[in-house]
Amino acid sequence: MDTNCIFCKINVGEIPGDFVYRDDDTFVIRDIVPKAPVHLLVIPTVHVERVAELASEEMSIIAAMFRAAKEAVRIEGIVERGYRLIVNQGEEGGQEVPHLHMHVLGGTHLRAMGLG
Ligand code: 5GP
Ligand code: ZN
Repeated sequence: MDTNCIFCKINVGEIPGDFVYRDDDTFVIRDIVPKAPVHLLVIPTVHVERVAELASEEMSIIAAMFRAAKEAVRIEGIVERGYRLIVNQGEEGGQEVPHLHMHVLGGTHLRAMGLG
């Protein structure tokens, strides 16, 4: 745990989060500023800033994130309709929270939301 990290604090309950799913390796919460009707954040429990930091033997974290995303979209009922998975990395990638996470955007046609 990084004691200055907002997602680590949400994980341990120091800051409230709207949890959709949790397992041994990940948790999924609703984004506090949703950009689509469904906007989830899939977050590994371990504090890692970026994919580039992961050694090859740690890549199971990535599989765990996709597994959690799969469960979360099933819970949200958007499996068939489709959705978008996004991972912002670093400053030019637009990453604001320095704890690896994957956005799940859906619940409408994203183009209609101006999301390309
Ligand atoms: P990034 O820009 O780092 O890829 O995405 C960070 C996301 O975290 C943003 O979409 C932002 O709205 C969300 N966020 C920031 N602080 C909080 C918070 O305290 N709670 C929740 N649920 N989401 C947050
Ligand atoms: Zn963290």
